[in-house]
Amino acid sequence: MQLTLSIIKPDAVRKNVIGQIYQRFEQSGLRIVAAKMLHLSQAQAEAFYGVHKERPFFNDLVKFMISGPVMIQVLAGTDAIKKHRDIMGATNPKDAAPGTIRADFANSIDENAVHGSDSEETARQEIEFFFKPTDILLRD
Ligand code: ADP
Ligand code: MG
Repeated sequence: MQLTLSIIKPDAVRKNVIGQIYQRFEQSGLRIVAAKMLHLSQAQAEAFYGVHKERPFFNDLVKFMISGPVMIQVLAGTDAIKKHRDIMGATNPKDAAPGTIRADFANSIDENAVHGSDSEETARQEIEFFFKPTDILLRD
């Protein structure tokens, strides 16, 4: 059993496809064990994406991530981090395999519908960034 952090980004929330994306999680065997909708502040978005602060796209990424509400969830399951990354698809939707979330719901590399943790360490940090341990409701 592993936990990972998922964010449905402002473009996908605007498209009204939260439910369709949740269905992908559930169909792949992942469980939603915590969730909240937030409109991130600039400081929150900058801190969350701190690892990318030297990248040329950082300012645009932050601006996009605060352009509207996001839906944030903790997903649980066997091999959840990789399973989630697999169903998300590649960062650039042009490279994303057919049937992945980004292939079906993202328009561009800038507005690519979803975020997912990429390792056990980032999953732990990212979950802690948004949720208290008591927010996570594990069950069988
Ligand atoms: P992923 O979200 O697949 O883990 P990264 O961690 O590399 O991808 O990048 C974080 C986010 O930054 C991406 O999801 C995307 O929104 C944005 N991004 C990454 N690379 C680029 C790029 N070359 N141009 C514009 N935005 C980018
Ligand atoms: Mg990443």
